[in-house]
Formats: sequence, C-alpha cells, structure tokens
Amino acid sequence: MDVARCPCSSGLTYADCCAPLHRGTARAGTAEQLMRSRFSAFAVGDADYLLRTWHPRTRPADLELDDDLRWYRLDVLATSAGGVFDTDGTVEFEAFHRGPGGRGSLHEVSRFVRGSDGWQYVDGDVTTSG
Ligand SMILES: [Zn+2]
Repeated sequence: MDVARCPCSSGLTYADCCAPLHRGTARAGTAEQLMRSRFSAFAVGDADYLLRTWHPRTRPADLELDDDLRWYRLDVLATSAGGVFDTDGTVEFEAFHRGPGGRGSLHEVSRFVRGSDGWQYVDGDVTTSG
C-alpha cells in the first residue's frame, strides 16, 4: 500500500502523503490537507482516523464504513482560510465512489476548525450526491 499512489489524488505516494497522518506521526497543517487525509481514510477504511479528526461536538459515537463503496478520486474545488495561521476554514470538494449500484459522487462544502488537537472536521453542506 505504501508504494501506491495516495487515494487522495495528490499524485504523491501514500507513504509520502496521508499515511503519516493516519499513523499519527504527522499532523495536517491545513484544512485541505486534513480533508485529503480524511478522504484517504475513507478509501483505506480507517474509521479510527475519521473519528479522531472529527470535532467532539459533531462526532458520531460510532462509524460504520460501507465496505461496498470504493472511494477512488478526490477533486478539491475551492478552499477558504484553513491555512497554517487560521483557526477555521472550508474546503469544497467532489469525492467519487463506485459500488454495486454504479458510480456516484459527493459534492460537499466542509467546515473545519483548528484547536489544540490540530485541524478537525466539523460538518458540511452536501450540494449533490448520487
Ligand atoms: Zn494523500
């Protein structure tokens, strides 16, 4: 897995991109980086990482990932704030998946905040889904 390209479509290998974040040896510096690593966590089935990077206020008690859904591509469409000197930010993205029912995508504007635990996902507005 580590020599494969990162699921987040960065063009880097997984080992040089999202793997250190998933292992907890590195932290996302920007909201976009956290967003990418969360997409990758969906792709590799790392529910622990998703819960760890979810804001306590909105975090679900448990997270059941759908094994039938394969997340294979991420397009980051826009960002606002979310930089290394910011404490909040948004990332607009489209995430593509395929499953038994065919292909689909999720288009969302996600909100992130940065606290003592680093960047965390708060919630998002889904504009289309399929
Ligand atoms: Zn990545």
